[in-house]
Amino acid sequence: MNLLIDTHAHLNFKAYKEDGSEVIKRSLKNGVWLINVGAEWDTSKRAVEYAEKYPKGVFAAVGLHPIHLQEQEIKEKNFEVVTKAEKFDYEKYKTLAQNPNVVAIGEIGLDYYHIENDDQETKLLQKQLFLKQLDLAEELQKPVIIHCRNAYQDIIDILKLKIENRELTVKGIIHSFLGNYKQARQYREMGFKIAFNGIITFARDYDKVILDAPLEDILLETDCPYLAPAPYRGQRNEPLYVIEVAKKLAEIKKIPLEEVINQTTANAKKVFNLV
Ligand SMILES: [Zn+2]
Repeated sequence: MNLLIDTHAHLNFKAYKEDGSEVIKRSLKNGVWLINVGAEWDTSKRAVEYAEKYPKGVFAAVGLHPIHLQEQEIKEKNFEVVTKAEKFDYEKYKTLAQNPNVVAIGEIGLDYYHIENDDQETKLLQKQLFLKQLDLAEELQKPVIIHCRNAYQDIIDILKLKIENRELTVKGIIHSFLGNYKQARQYREMGFKIAFNGIITFARDYDKVILDAPLEDILLETDCPYLAPAPYRGQRNEPLYVIEVAKKLAEIKKIPLEEVINQTTANAKKVFNLV
C-alpha cells in the first residue's frame, strides 16, 4: 500500500478527547502518516506529546493561530469554537518547537474572516503575531504552516518583504488553500506549496488552481475534525479520509491516483523533512 500523508490534522483537539489514540492507530495501520497541528499552547503541547508516543508517522507543528489572540465565540456550519485569549510567549514556544518531533511552526497566519467591522487594531495585532512566529521559524530553521482567511494579499506582502530583506529563508505551505490561481502562483514563485483538503470534493471553485499548479507544488490534508470530504460530509473528519482528497485531485487533473499519492507524499516528506 502506498503511503499517504495528512499534513494538517487536529487529533490534539477536543473532538478526539475520548479516542485520539485509536484514530492515530487506525491511520498508521492503514498507511496514513499525519502532522498534528497546534493552534494555541495547549494543543501545541498535546501535538508534541502525541508525536513522542509514536516512533514513526506522527509529527507535530506548534504555533499560535491568529483567532486565539482574542477571546471570542465562533459559530459556523459544522464549526463551533470558543477561543481563549493567549499572549504569545516566544521563548516558551521556542523551547517546545526545538523538540525533534516538531516539523513545522504552525498554524500561524492571518484570519480577517472573523474580524468585526474591519477592525484595524486586531489586524495589526495579528500581523505582529505572524511576524514573530516567522522569526521563530527562521531562528529554528523549520518550515511554516500558514493559515489564511480573507487575507491573501497581506500574507503575500509580508512574505515578499521578509524574503527580500533576507529575514526569511525557510519555506512552507499555505494550508487549506482558498485563493485564486494568481495568488497560488505568487506563493509558488516564492517557493511555498499549497495544500488542499475535503473542500475540493464538494466545491468546484478550486479546480482552476489545481489544474494550474504542478503536482510537485501540492500537498494533501484533512484539517480534521473539520471539513470532512464527500462522502463523509457532516461527520467528524479523520486522517484516513485524506484518500478522498487524493482521488478528487486525480480526477480533476486526469492522472492516475497512484501518481497523486506518490508525488504528494514525496512533497510532504521534502517540505517537512519527514523520516
Ligand atoms: Zn487547522
